[in-house]
Amino acid sequence: MEDKLYYSYNDIHNICVEKANTIKKEFVPDVILAIGGGGLIPARIMRSVLDIPIYVVSLSTYDETNNPINEPIIVQWMDFSKLRNKKILVVDEVDDTRKTIEFLVNKLANNEEISEENLGIFVLHNKKKDKVIGINNLSISYYNYGEMVENKWIVYPWD
Ligand code: 5GP
Repeated sequence: MEDKLYYSYNDIHNICVEKANTIKKEFVPDVILAIGGGGLIPARIMRSVLDIPIYVVSLSTYDETNNPINEPIIVQWMDFSKLRNKKILVVDEVDDTRKTIEFLVNKLANNEEISEENLGIFVLHNKKKDKVIGINNLSISYYNYGEMVENKWIVYPWD
């Protein structure tokens, strides 16, 4: 049995377009907040459907020697006051342990002008595994994913 899952740009494009059309009706975001690097390409594809601005933060869960680390490192941040009272769709490529999403949602939810009601998440892939936090315990009002996948390493076309 293959120990990795492979996706083409075409697969990713189809997932993003289909889900962006759903999210446009179900969540109706005002802005996309892409998590770099993996969320950048999905966010850009989704923008073609959603037609809303993209903001970016960049996080890393691996150290300089490529070993996984416990708490994400901030590579680049942004001024969250720009997101005041906006409906924010956070976009990343994969929900693995959920540490990255938990980290960013907590940082966003710490701002008075960013309410739980205005926070939504989209990931291309949600891995079937134990997560550090349940979706219901995150300060968000919307969560959607492209596909639920086995707990295997996913190889993206940009990897
Ligand atoms: P987390 O464990 O915080 O949910 O995921 C952290 C980050 O690890 C993801 O944003 C992604 O960059 C990377 N990651 C986790 N699993 C995979 C995978 O299967 N394939 C790839 N390419 N990256 C992954």
